[in-house]
Amino acid sequence: MDWIGSIAQKFRNVFKPTTQNPNSQKIMLTKLMHMVEQTQEEEYSCDDVLQLLDEYAEMVSYGEDAADMMPLIKHHLEMCPDCREEAEALLSVIQSQQY
Ligand SMILES: [Zn+2]
Repeated sequence: MDWIGSIAQKFRNVFKPTTQNPNSQKIMLTKLMHMVEQTQEEEYSCDDVLQLLDEYAEMVSYGEDAADMMPLIKHHLEMCPDCREEAEALLSVIQSQQY
């Protein structure tokens, strides 16, 4: 699994955590995860989506372009009303905690 290491290395160089944003590292990891996703080029099952839904909803609530970073999840949510409902519920919980 050397390619994961080399992608991670590349990402550390590009996204040095220089900001004060405590989420930057998490966002970096999510971006890394997204690169791995794209490498695999698979469609997600509902289980996969539900596992990543926390990350997805948090990114949306931080104003990150979640759909751009996690297109497979966006794609699945567009096709799957069950997961979409779950995502919306999660997002409203996160947003209600922020204020
Ligand atoms: Zn689903």
